Amino acid sequence: MREKAFGPVRFLPGPNKGKYPACHSVFVEGAGVLIDPASDRERLSALAGEGGVRLLLLSHWHEDHFAHWDLFRDVPVWLAEEDMPPLQNIEVFLDWYGMIWPGDERLRETWAEIIRRDFHYRKVTPDRPLQGGEVLSLGETTMEVIRAPGHTPGHLAFYFREQGVLFLGDYDLTAFGPYYGDPASSIEDTVSTVEALRRIPARVWMTGHGTGLFEEEPGGLWDRYLGVIGERDGKILEYVARPRTLEEILGQWFVYLKPREPLDFYRFTERAQIVKHLEKLTREGRVEREGERYVGVK
Ligand SMILES: [Zn+2]
Repeated sequence: MREKAFGPVRFLPGPNKGKYPACHSVFVEGAGVLIDPASDRERLSALAGEGGVRLLLLSHWHEDHFAHWDLFRDVPVWLAEEDMPPLQNIEVFLDWYGMIWPGDERLRETWAEIIRRDFHYRKVTPDRPLQGGEVLSLGETTMEVIRAPGHTPGHLAFYFREQGVLFLGDYDLTAFGPYYGDPASSIEDTVSTVEALRRIPARVWMTGHGTGLFEEEPGGLWDRYLGVIGERDGKILEYVARPRTLEEILGQWFVYLKPREPLDFYRFTERAQIVKHLEKLTREGRVEREGERYVGVK
C-alpha cells in the first residue's frame, strides 16, 4: 500500500493492510495534525524526527489507534469527551472492554500488560475535548469533526471540505463488518452513523483498517458492511429456534466463523458481540429468555 496525498491531507498506510494491532493514519501537512498514530512505526518515527507533528487526534479510545503515540510525548492529544475515561485510568480501560465477568481476571491481567507494553498506554488528560460539529481551519484545508457513535460512544469521523476527503475511522467497510463488542458500543448507533456517513458528499474515503483508501464511491461495500449485522442476527435466530444457552450459542462461532488463536481472546470478543446481538434481538421482541436459555419468539 502506498501513501497518497490529497492537497495537504495525506493517507499513511499501516502495515499488513492496517490489520490489528495497526491502523492507517491521516496526516495534515503544514498544520501538523496526525490522526490515529498507530500506522507504520518507522514512518511515524521519521515524522516525529522532522518535528512537524503539533497535534494528535484520536478517532476513538481503542489501542490500535494510539499505539505509537509514545513517539510524540509532548504533543497534545485531542479526542471526544465521551471516549476519554479509558485513557485516564487503565482499570477503566479494561472495564470499558467488558472484562468484568467472573473468570475474566486472568485475561484482564494479561491484557493490561499488553496494553502498557505493546501499545504504550499512558494516561492522557486531553487539554481540549473535540466536539461533533466543530470546524477547524488547518491551513489549506477545513476539517469538520463529525460525531460517529456506535463503535464507541465518542467515535469521530473527520471531513476535509476542500479536498472532499472523509476519514471514517473504524467504520472500515471491511468484509468482517462492524465491531460493536464493548459494553458502550451500540449496534443501532452503528447503523445510523454509517448511514449518515454514507450521505456525506465526499470524493475520497479513508478508513482505519483494510483497503483504507477509496477514490471511488464505495457503493455496495456500505451495504455489505451493514449487512453483516442482519446476517449474524439471522444465524442466531435460526439457532435459537430451540432454546439454547449462551455457551451453546458461543460454540457456533457466528461472528468469527471458527475458533481462532489466541483462543481466550477470541472467545472473549465472540461473547462480547453475540451478547450485543442477543440484547438487540430481545429489545426487538424477537428473542426471549427462558431461565438460562435464549429462544426465538414465534
Ligand atoms: Zn476501534
